[in-house]
Amino acid sequence: MPVSEIFSAESRLIHSGTSRAAAQPLTPPLVPASIYVSEGEPRRDRAYGRDGNPGWEALEEALGRLEDAEAVAFASGQAASMALMLTLAQGRDRIVLPADGYYGTRVLADRLRPHGAVPVAADLQDLAAVAGELKAAPSVLWAETPTNPLLRVADLAGLAETAAAAHAPMIVDNTTATSLLQRPLDWGAAASLYSLTKAASGHSDVILGAVVSRDAELLAGLRSWRSSGGGVPGPFEAWLALRGLKTLPLRIARQSDSASRIARHLTGHRRVRAVHYPGFERTTAALVRRQMPHGCGPLLSFELDSARAADQVVASSRLILPATSFGGVESTWERRARWSGETAPDGLIRLSVGVEPAADLLTDIDQALDTLEVP
Ligand code: PLP
Repeated sequence: MPVSEIFSAESRLIHSGTSRAAAQPLTPPLVPASIYVSEGEPRRDRAYGRDGNPGWEALEEALGRLEDAEAVAFASGQAASMALMLTLAQGRDRIVLPADGYYGTRVLADRLRPHGAVPVAADLQDLAAVAGELKAAPSVLWAETPTNPLLRVADLAGLAETAAAAHAPMIVDNTTATSLLQRPLDWGAAASLYSLTKAASGHSDVILGAVVSRDAELLAGLRSWRSSGGGVPGPFEAWLALRGLKTLPLRIARQSDSASRIARHLTGHRRVRAVHYPGFERTTAALVRRQMPHGCGPLLSFELDSARAADQVVASSRLILPATSFGGVESTWERRARWSGETAPDGLIRLSVGVEPAADLLTDIDQALDTLEVP
C-alpha cells in the first residue's frame, strides 16, 4: 500500500524532503549551487541553477502533497502570480478578480494589460455578476477567499461551476487560508496560488511563492516562465520555507483558535465599529462551516471610527508589533489604508494573530483600545 494511502497529508508534509536511507542527513540539505557538473546533452534540472535545485524540489514535494498535486515554487507570491497570469492570459481578454482582494494582485494584473488580458473587478459573493463578467469575453477567474484584508468568503463550488460554464480557468489565491484549511483544487480550481511569505513559512524571514495544480499543461507553462523569466526561489529561502512549513499544522490551529477568540471579543466592543473574520458575516456563516471546517486562519480585521483612532491604537500596543504582512509566529497589525492603492476603509486595522497565548493578545488589544477617548 503506498505511503499516501496509510498516512495523513500532515505526516507526509513533516517527512517531505527527508531520506530514510542510512547515513543520509535527516534534514534536507541546503544546496547553494548555481551550476551542476554536466556534459553532453544537459539534464534540464541539473545543469544550470535557474532550472532546478534540490531545495526547491523538496519544498515543491511538500506543497504538492498537501493538495495531491504538483507545485512550482517562485521567488515571491507576486512572481508566482505574474507567471500564472502570463501563462493564462494568452488567448484570453480579461482577468476577473475581486474588488476587495489583495491590492497587489490588481496592480499586477493592470500592468499586464499590454500583454493581453485586462483586469475586471467583480463581487465574488455575487455569482450572477461573476457569470456576466466571465461570459462577456474569454476570461480567467482569479478568486481570493478569504480576501485580504476584508476576510470575505466566496463560494468555491459555485464559482467553479460558474467558471466552467464560461470555459474560464479558476485560480484561487489561497494565501490567507493555506492548503491545510482549504483545498481549492478539490472545489474545482485549476490552480491554487500562495504567497509562502505568510503563514506557510510562518517566521517573517522569507519572501517566496508557489502555484499548485493538477494540470500538466499549466504546470509546464509555469516552469517555462520561471526558467525564462528567472523568478526562481533562492535555495536558502526554499530551505527556510520547508522548515517553517513542517510546523504549519500546529501554528495554524493555534492562530485560527486565537483569531476567532479575538474576533468574538471585539464584536460588540464599544470602540469597535465592525469586525471581519470568516464565519462572522451572517450570510456566509453556513458556507464557512462547509468550506473551511478546520478553522479560518490568522488574519482578521476590525474598524474604528477614524484613521486617527486606528493609528493611535496601532501605536499603543506593547506586544503586537506594528508591521505589515501576516501569518508569522509574532502578532502584527497595521492600519491598512496607510498603503496607497489599498481600498480598505480608513479606520480599518488588519491584525495577524501569532502564536502568543490569546490571553496576552487580548490584554494588549484592550489596553491599546483603552487609550481612545470613550465616544
Ligand atoms: N496574495 C496575497 C493574498 C497577499 O497578501 C500577498 C502579499 O501580501 C501576495 C499574494 C503577494 O505575495 P508576496 O509578497 O510573497 O509577493
